[in-house]
Amino acid sequence: MAPSSQPAREPLVSLVVPVFNEIEAIDAFYERATQALGALEGMAYEIVFIDDGSVDGSYQRLAQFAKQNARIRVLKLSRNFGHQIAISAGIDFAKGDCAVIIDADLQDPPEVVADMIAKWREGFDVVYGVRSDRAGETPIKLATATMFYRLLGRLTNIHIPANVGDFRLMSRRVVEQLKQLREKDRFVRGLVSWVGFPQTSITYKRDRRFAGETKYPFRKMLKFAFDGITSFSTMPLKLATWTGYASAILAVLYLLSVFVQKLMGYTVDGWATIMVAMLFMGSVQLICLGILGEYLGRVFNEVKPRPMYIVEEDLTSGPDAPGA
Ligand code: UDP
Ligand code: MG
Repeated sequence: MAPSSQPAREPLVSLVVPVFNEIEAIDAFYERATQALGALEGMAYEIVFIDDGSVDGSYQRLAQFAKQNARIRVLKLSRNFGHQIAISAGIDFAKGDCAVIIDADLQDPPEVVADMIAKWREGFDVVYGVRSDRAGETPIKLATATMFYRLLGRLTNIHIPANVGDFRLMSRRVVEQLKQLREKDRFVRGLVSWVGFPQTSITYKRDRRFAGETKYPFRKMLKFAFDGITSFSTMPLKLATWTGYASAILAVLYLLSVFVQKLMGYTVDGWATIMVAMLFMGSVQLICLGILGEYLGRVFNEVKPRPMYIVEEDLTSGPDAPGA
């Protein structure tokens, strides 16, 4: 781990690239990434592709890259485990002195890696990319992202700007810490923030997807947001308690008013009130149960001693390695 054992060696940067059905973009990505990384001065590179259960031949293409270029390492997961786990698998296998997570669809320009490395050389452990412009993303996605990160910042002590994704550089010591965090409902950018060490940002222009379509439909975005909040905050559980208190106070107030009305001799046809109170309490209880359930489900998930992912093919040691 310590570079002092081989002082003459150039530092190595690992590019970690999750790939899920990116056959239309993968060639262009390979060209541009190898070009950008090849131009780095005093720095060697490797690209770790993680095939996250693609069914469009992306893996076969990646395997060809690995065959023709010893700097390319490919890991094939046994099925689609999801973006966050794919990234984590890549980080597990990255050998670099620093590692950069990047999307395969060229939304994050590989040329920006040079700027990140410059910051790393200044001594920063994490350099995350802040998007100055997000071409080709819907206003709804932008608005919900802003809302989500504001909420996350308020509920937790994890502060992530709204316009930051997983495109970021991490030093070897951050990578080593991150590898210790084996939770399965993962929110990688939160974990990186949690790890700490000197962190900084650089601004870049996020492009449109090169080809294909987003692998993050609304449903997945929602799960992602939930993982983000529940893995760093128990605030929603407290919210349930507070709602309970609030409705208990309301109930007492209402009881008093009923009592007073009774004393004053009003005869009230109570059906409507009973219905309203019942429905209200019923829904409060269901909401609280739901919140409990979300956490319970996540506890269940973590308690099962399953690995985070399963590797089907490992081309990470290169084509010349024995047995490869
Ligand atoms: N991805 C993945 N597994 C998934 C979904 C996505 O490995 O289940 C990869 C995808 O191939 C891409 C990156 O993660 O390289 C980001 O996905 P996408 O571009 O669809 O997300 P968006 O940029 O729209 O948020
Ligand atoms: Mg994308």
